[in-house]
Amino acid sequence: MPFSSLAKIDPLTGEFASPASEAAFLHHRLPQTQPLLGFTLVFCTLFYLAFALTDLAALGFGPDFLSLLGARMVVAFTAGTCAWLAYRRPLTVGATRLAASVSEAVALGCFMFIAVHRPLEFHWHAMSLAIMLIVVYLYIPNSFVNALLLAFAATASFLAIALHLGRMSAADVVTMSMLLVLANAFGALAARRFNRASREEYRAQTALQHAAERDHLTGCHNRRYLHDKLMAPLAQQALCQHARVTVVLCDIDNFKHINDSHGHADGDEVIRGFARLLAAMTREGVDSVVRYGGEEFLAILPGVPLDEGIAFAERLRSRFAAAVTPSGDGLERIRTTASFGVAAGAADMDEGPALRDLIAAADKLMYEAKRAGRDCVRAMQVL
Ligand code: GH3
Ligand code: MG
Ligand code: MG
Repeated sequence: MPFSSLAKIDPLTGEFASPASEAAFLHHRLPQTQPLLGFTLVFCTLFYLAFALTDLAALGFGPDFLSLLGARMVVAFTAGTCAWLAYRRPLTVGATRLAASVSEAVALGCFMFIAVHRPLEFHWHAMSLAIMLIVVYLYIPNSFVNALLLAFAATASFLAIALHLGRMSAADVVTMSMLLVLANAFGALAARRFNRASREEYRAQTALQHAAERDHLTGCHNRRYLHDKLMAPLAQQALCQHARVTVVLCDIDNFKHINDSHGHADGDEVIRGFARLLAAMTREGVDSVVRYGGEEFLAILPGVPLDEGIAFAERLRSRFAAAVTPSGDGLERIRTTASFGVAAGAADMDEGPALRDLIAAADKLMYEAKRAGRDCVRAMQVL
């Protein structure tokens, strides 16, 4: 899921400026958005229906009342169906927005119909509309732009109808317009503030999670991530879907010597260079790269058989051996090599904690490679 902990927030909408970041945020929130949408629609629908009492009080029981009741039932049916979907079906973000927009549009449209049939009460209608606008801006989960467009369209239509049918004084028209402008302004400002606060919280949460799971120097996953996430039963079950898996343990050769002769800063640069190479050679979102120790890295390659794992390690070995890291003062060129242990196995949960066994085997093989003179690969089919 693409999300940068530096993602910018749009100052006007309070949403993430980049569509990818906004999509990641909305996707993350979807499990909460769905029940919230369902609950809000049910709540609003019940109130909408309860207000049929005001139709009855204004018009008495008769054909006019029944036609308004019909309009209210249309709203109840639309919003009720959308609420049922939101509670019962796994919806996409787009579907939740469509459900929110359709319910809002139908409710606002029917509200205009009711206002037209009760032309003596535009003062009350204006107050009701002001409350509905706040609900549209703040309570029904939708995009800022959708809420703004619906609220503006409803406000403009209502004012046009009120001017045409309302038989109101100039003072009434001005007061009503001001009330609706105020409801729109406060609704939009509050929605923007709420959007911003929820996205700032998400950004901070993502940054914390990133810091907890990643190694600061290289950006690779750390051992905590290996133990808590990759070795967790669910992750191992996901791994089993690939039927086989290869683990490559890499250790930079004679690294102490680099630190001793060039300094730790240059040593760090060599470590970063190795991590960059690993990242470039592995599949994003499929393989996992872990900084296993100071200058030791672990690559977990799901779906990769032993021969491909060996070929991967050999490619990595020769590229790293050919790579040159300029020293910090630019005067020297640092070269070194790395040794590799490759362990491949069937990712079969019945065989016990497969990943742990593979890592232990790769570790032994890596030490065999060291004993064999370094800058080489040792490999084995384990399970
Ligand atoms: P071998 O070929 O047997 O692996 O020899 P080596 O010198 O690489 O041996 P060893 O694994 O014992 O040494 C690793 C060294 O890496 C020791 C430690 O000081 C250094 N080191 C660990 N983490 C870091 C780091 O983040 N930055 C730097 N610059 N050095 C580190
Ligand atoms: Mg080491
Ligand atoms: Mg080493």
